[in-house]
Amino acid sequence: MLVYADNAATTKLSAAALDAMLPYYTEIWANPSSLHTPGLRAAEKLSEARERTAKILGCEAREIIFTSGGSEANNQALVSGARAGEKKGRRHIVSTSFEHHSVLHTLKALEKEGFEVTLVDVGKDGVVDAEKIENAIRPDTCLVSVMYANNEIGTVQPISDIGRICRNKGITFHTDAVQAVGHVEIDVNKENIDMLSLSAHKFEGPRGVGVLYAKRGVPLTSIIYGGAQERGQRAGTENLPAVIGMTAALEESVKNMKENNEKTSRLRDRLIEGLSKIPHSALNGSAVKRLPGNVNFSFEGIEGESLLILLDDRGIAASSGSACASASLDPSHVLLAIGRPHEVAHGSLRLSLSHLNTEAEVDYIIKCTSEVVERLRSMSPVWRDLESGEKEFMLK
Ligand SMILES: *Cc1c(COP(=O)(O)O)cnc(C)c1O
Repeated sequence: MLVYADNAATTKLSAAALDAMLPYYTEIWANPSSLHTPGLRAAEKLSEARERTAKILGCEAREIIFTSGGSEANNQALVSGARAGEKKGRRHIVSTSFEHHSVLHTLKALEKEGFEVTLVDVGKDGVVDAEKIENAIRPDTCLVSVMYANNEIGTVQPISDIGRICRNKGITFHTDAVQAVGHVEIDVNKENIDMLSLSAHKFEGPRGVGVLYAKRGVPLTSIIYGGAQERGQRAGTENLPAVIGMTAALEESVKNMKENNEKTSRLRDRLIEGLSKIPHSALNGSAVKRLPGNVNFSFEGIEGESLLILLDDRGIAASSGSACASASLDPSHVLLAIGRPHEVAHGSLRLSLSHLNTEAEVDYIIKCTSEVVERLRSMSPVWRDLESGEKEFMLK
């Protein structure tokens, strides 16, 4: 059996998105900035896509900037917030310790320039306390950035509360909503969001395309030098086929959200229940404030990497955390942020499901994971020490 359970890393392009894209490679392929008739036609389609995207996010078309994806949108949002703050003599930014690396590394770069960054810690349940964000805000704070849903443990954050706090204090609020868009209902106005990042390939759209939403009046800084595309805010020939595919995928995922979420969360809860039967294991992050497809478990006494390889041998595609962190041997910064000790964080597994998964697949994952964990433990010197009482169990 082949089971794809790594939807937080990327999703399969939907048939609707692919169908929508194809004519933009074969027929309407002109550059939207060209002044000839085919170019004008392409520009018209780009403008339509912008309107359709804005309608779904509940904003105006002019508030949508098409980018190359979530990472670029996050980079531009943070740099823009910092530059605007700097002009008013404010050089302090508030964020959290479990953001995506495209946020954390941009903040590091801003720190090198002299900005001060406060990373608010995350509760053991993987949820940020809005009050802690409020307490971290200072008179010189120019920007708050908190992710909508975490990519490793799937926990959903109190974005409306944080938005209200920032609006009352007149501070720009950005959210990395890459894991949430298409899976959670979002209204940028109701939730007082000033800037929001999204990425098409996390909701069955194509890779390499995303959106930075910036509320009217929130000044953006271009981070790519070049032409005047996207109203001078993002240089580079517009990736029209990808934008069209993203728009189709966004409309489809929002239209089917309720039905897909019902199915996916049922599968998620079945998987959580099954894996919970493995002794000395624990779910990472709140079981309720959680994306419909995310399951993240720690198993004591084993290495997550070995678990992944043995599951892959059985046809299961999973992750040890985030695709970005898995190339390094450091344990996940997210699991450390929610207070998991290094040894426990190392023995972790992320299974991210979608509406395309089935009950039979979930049962197969439970069976294989239980067997593989048992096998790895039987060979693990750490497990021997735990069982003999030489070391103490950290997970019950
Ligand atoms: C995937 C992801 C990103 C990066 O998006 P790309 O389009 O792959 O650059 C940023 N933030 C989160 C939370 C993500 O899950």
